[in-house]
Amino acid sequence: MALEKIEYDASHCQRCSTCKWSHIWEIKSHRFSRNCPSIWYGMYDAYAAQGKNDIATGLLKGEIDWNTSREKLLEIIYRCPLCAACDINCKRIMDLDIIGVLDALREEACEKGHGPLPQHKEFIQSITNYDNVWKQPRTRRANWAKKLDIKDLSKKGEKADVLYYVGCTYAYKPGMETVPQGTARIMKKAGVDFGILGAKEVCCGGIADNVGDKKSFDEIAEKNLKMFEEVGAKTIVTNCPGCYMTFSEKYARYLKKDTKDLPYVVKHSTMYIDELIQAGKIKLKKNLNMRVTYHDPCHLGRRGEPYKHWEGKRIQWGLTDPPRELNRGVNGIYEPPRNILKAIPGLKLVEMERIKEYAWCCGSGAGSKSAYPDFALAVAKERIEEAETTGASAIVSACPWCEANLSDGIDACGSKMKVMDILDVIEQSMEG
Ligand code: SF4
Ligand code: SF4
Repeated sequence: MALEKIEYDASHCQRCSTCKWSHIWEIKSHRFSRNCPSIWYGMYDAYAAQGKNDIATGLLKGEIDWNTSREKLLEIIYRCPLCAACDINCKRIMDLDIIGVLDALREEACEKGHGPLPQHKEFIQSITNYDNVWKQPRTRRANWAKKLDIKDLSKKGEKADVLYYVGCTYAYKPGMETVPQGTARIMKKAGVDFGILGAKEVCCGGIADNVGDKKSFDEIAEKNLKMFEEVGAKTIVTNCPGCYMTFSEKYARYLKKDTKDLPYVVKHSTMYIDELIQAGKIKLKKNLNMRVTYHDPCHLGRRGEPYKHWEGKRIQWGLTDPPRELNRGVNGIYEPPRNILKAIPGLKLVEMERIKEYAWCCGSGAGSKSAYPDFALAVAKERIEEAETTGASAIVSACPWCEANLSDGIDACGSKMKVMDILDVIEQSMEG
């Protein structure tokens, strides 16, 4: 039973509400002080982490049962983007694995045959049928790379220093192909020896894990890990924070290892390009004369922190044996995208109030947008209203999911801001 492994964490919640707010020292205004989109939208305690802890405990004790509360339970469990703001805020006062509780509730829903939701099943079915979440033919996966003359490492005898993994969304979503194309051009200009998996690239499987379908996730992880081994991948670069987090955290968890002990190193493209800039291999020359703000994707920020595997038990006074190192979200990928933006001549980076480990989620993660579009849109609008206060003309991000949802938020707000992918901004500054 999935919930048994988090029994201690769920039952030791203090109901203090710390998980709902940014750190008091970080709060700049009451208006933008909240940190949990789920309770902000639901306005009822069950939607907050503390309510979900009570639900997990209630299910474990048999005080709540699926048959009488099925629809409401599913809504509470799944109307949450798993942004982990609750998890890192709780760790300021407790050492509870809150994201573990939220994950276990989804796993439990699937084990009992109630989850995932029909919208999520469509994604998983699509991965089964097509190896991507967008129901697109496998043969079109590398269409973005046509005419770019990139090595296909899935072909016998092809080798490269870097495996560039594109991900389903950048590979297939119309209009987003500029990002992998730009990344490939940048790596070529910098002289990087890289290749792709062509039509053999398959979905990372992160969505299956996020919605609690661990069986499907394990099968996809196995398939990808085998592929990485076959092509001898030592360094993997990806633009998608979801894929980044899946390869660095979820695969490490699946293998019961720390991220640092994986057989490969995975880097988000902003980390890799920042290194190329520092090494002088890329020059950002063109003056862009823009004022922008940066949105931290949760999968790159709070959830982008390297995973530290722990197996042990709670002993006297709740201490852990062996001692457990906690992920607090502070070691996420915050500086590389900011370093890049600050290196662009004429570009001024202005920060929103909620940034880095206290960033407000865009609202679309972990199946939220497909199952609860009104919720996802409201959360995006809140972020756009925050971005507007900076006076920036564009909100730059580094995630296809955030960018799509924030664009919807801009339309809904009637805002004049633009949403830009950081790769497009970098390419513009390299021109000329
Ligand atoms: S911060 Fe942690 S202990 Fe406090 S209510 Fe939230 S989940 Fe419970
Ligand atoms: S993961 Fe995010 S939205 Fe879900 S309960 Fe935690 S803070 Fe709220």
